[in-house]
Amino acid sequence: MVPWLIAAPAFVAGFAGLTAYGAVHPRSQLFGHTLFQTDRARKLALTFDDGPNPTITPKLLDLLDRHQAKATFFVVGKYVREAPALVREISERGHVLGNHTDTHPNLFFCGPQETRSELLRCSEAIGQATWAEPRWFRPPFGFRSPWLGALAQQQRMRTVMWTLIPGDWRVKTSEWLIERMKPIASHAQNLPPKDKPLQKPSTGDILCLHDGDYGRPNADRTRTLTALEYWLPRWRDLGLEFVTIKQTNGKVVEA
Ligand SMILES: [Zn+2]
Repeated sequence: MVPWLIAAPAFVAGFAGLTAYGAVHPRSQLFGHTLFQTDRARKLALTFDDGPNPTITPKLLDLLDRHQAKATFFVVGKYVREAPALVREISERGHVLGNHTDTHPNLFFCGPQETRSELLRCSEAIGQATWAEPRWFRPPFGFRSPWLGALAQQQRMRTVMWTLIPGDWRVKTSEWLIERMKPIASHAQNLPPKDKPLQKPSTGDILCLHDGDYGRPNADRTRTLTALEYWLPRWRDLGLEFVTIKQTNGKVVEA
């Protein structure tokens, strides 16, 4: 057990619900500020975690190019060192790289030193591959701890969560995944026409998908590609614009 969880049992019991919410809920700001939505309703930020994956990432890059879509890749340091050229290519093709730790631990159970080192080692690997260190960070499994926000900030990174995580790591059909990604289109369909101003300032989606698997190199993510192949043209027809995390301006929730 990590030190900050050692406390009187009654306190722990009362605290547990709040802690669980604070640690993992994408909108929780309890453990530091996070960015969890874009600053415009029609801006959709596509994000991909757990790569780079030599089996899938090159195909994903081609798919994104075909639809003129830029995205954000939260890569795992141990995989970056195995495929630095692929990481460089992600960046050279106009996408943004983010830090997803070095070995993908659950940071809720990591002390400050281990957390700092996980973040640093991943940023170093990205820096060696691309000559630029990331400014964005996504915690594995979405789990945060009381010191994560400050440590990410010290390393000049902002924490990014999501509005939708359809669960593309689950062994299900492409049709299942396509259905799970439907809320993005539903949100766009509920917007007024493009030439009409929005009634109130509104925000857009950050979608969390996976081009790799933190536990298995070269994992098959064909279903993710199939679902994107289905949705990308439809999202564009609905008036959505594909943006990187950098283009969200981070105005909604200040880090
Ligand atoms: Zn992950």
